Amino acid sequence: YRHGEPSEVVVPTPNGEVIFGEGHDVVVVAGPCSVENESMIIETAQRVKAAGAKFLRGGAYKPRTSPYAFQGHGESALDLLAAAKAKTGLGIITEVMDAADLEKIAEVADVLQIGARNMQNFSLLKRVGAQPKPVLLKRGMSATIEEWLMAAEYILAAGNPNVILCERGIRTFDREYTRNTLDLAAIPVLRKLTHLPIMIDPSHGTGWAEFVPAMAKAAVAAGADALMIEVHPNPAKALSDGAQSLTPDQFDELMQVLQRPLVSL
Ligand code: PEP
Ligand code: MN
Repeated sequence: YRHGEPSEVVVPTPNGEVIFGEGHDVVVVAGPCSVENESMIIETAQRVKAAGAKFLRGGAYKPRTSPYAFQGHGESALDLLAAAKAKTGLGIITEVMDAADLEKIAEVADVLQIGARNMQNFSLLKRVGAQPKPVLLKRGMSATIEEWLMAAEYILAAGNPNVILCERGIRTFDREYTRNTLDLAAIPVLRKLTHLPIMIDPSHGTGWAEFVPAMAKAAVAAGADALMIEVHPNPAKALSDGAQSLTPDQFDELMQVLQRPLVSL
């Protein structure tokens, strides 16, 4: 997989170019699990921007376990992401579940997210590989590192070199205290095996807001190039993933801690 030097994934945003890759600042992506309404997405965007995030995340199309759970607002959520982008200049990262939606999502998204459940949707991987927007490829919940890297290879082989890998926790035996098991060892392993930038998502990785700061700090200490953190203005009322979402105040506090040099290590 190692095609040479570490990749730099350079993403133009209204606020300027953001570079994902080894040796660059840790890029923080933050926002709600789902785009719920205009006021919440604008408020969240403004707060995470003020705290230092470079990208706003937010799902318009949600891969929910139950078909009866909130599925995302779809196209109207894309319009709200566009409004948040216009207001803050933040880059936008949002999930593509269906290739049929790719074009309209790419009109607003600066990075296309492929979710854990679609990591091995090879036809979708080929489609995002054949278009120019960078791709964030989340690790499947039961995928080996080899399977994950081969999934990335589908995108690269289709002609898109701009792939970022995101570890978001894998399925193990304990679901009592953590939603998933965050595989932080994937950071040095991937560093050895691939040139691609490495993102860690401690929100899905733990499932609980109270555990997110410790895992975010550990990820940075272990050399992650980027973090994805769920933030919601009122987690108790969130339509999805409220339990693992930080409030804007909690996110702000975490960002201040992350800006401290890691001298004590
Ligand atoms: C998400 O980012 O909200 C999401 C659904 O993530 P994953 O695909 O990692 O479960
Ligand atoms: Mn989520």
